[in-house]
Amino acid sequence: MSHIDMRQFMCLDDNYGVLLHDSVTGATASIDAPDAEAVEAQLRKYGRQLTHIFTTHHHADHVQGNLRLKELFGCKIIGPKAEADKIPGIDIQVSGGDKFIWSHREVFVYDCPGHTAGHISFSMPSEFSLFAGDTIFAVGCGRVLEGTFEQMYQSVNQFKTLSPSTYIYCGHEYTEANIRFALTIEPGNKALSDRAHIVAKQRANGEMTCPTTLADELKTNPYLRCNSPEIRNILGMETASDAEVFAEIRTRKNNFK
Ligand code: ZN
Ligand code: FE
Repeated sequence: MSHIDMRQFMCLDDNYGVLLHDSVTGATASIDAPDAEAVEAQLRKYGRQLTHIFTTHHHADHVQGNLRLKELFGCKIIGPKAEADKIPGIDIQVSGGDKFIWSHREVFVYDCPGHTAGHISFSMPSEFSLFAGDTIFAVGCGRVLEGTFEQMYQSVNQFKTLSPSTYIYCGHEYTEANIRFALTIEPGNKALSDRAHIVAKQRANGEMTCPTTLADELKTNPYLRCNSPEIRNILGMETASDAEVFAEIRTRKNNFK
């Protein structure tokens, strides 16, 4: 099978753009459309025609480039059925459990309510890739704005069933701040302190810290580690459910400076 070229780039303040390109079929997809100009510049640079946008959720920093890119390239927009009325230019509505074919590859859709009510993520197992939008970040997860903590717990933790070698592409570069917070609730986690050094170096060099991998997240992301004895001890929640621990971690993060 042909190879998919993945190109990730920064845009707006801290958003990630990602372009997928199959040189055999010419199919080219943008994960979300944070900034039409930035996406267009990447496409022009490599001489590509945008054929699809995969939309994860309705926030402006993920959809505001939709209509302009559609006008420029006539691309098809695939996005969440549950909030389709808020996705400009949406052509194809999908929801959790759906599977579609993009450039001869299977793409699986996951419902991820919590950050927004209709948020979805896309996985492409042939490329060991998950496009998670604002559900999971490196060492973090999205703010719970339209759903419950319980929903967000499920949305984030469902990815544990994917292959650990899965690359996770997320919506924002928040890794440094996420690590600073994570260290307050799991200071004895050696993998986390090791990662803090690596990430500090990457950021000092102006490098992106994503994509991350599920294997790295399992070792360092507190929202996937609600059963960690150290975290439970620090929170004083030894007997609570994982979802309750999740809610406490996410609440503390909201108040963390
Ligand atoms: Zn968002
Ligand atoms: Fe966002």
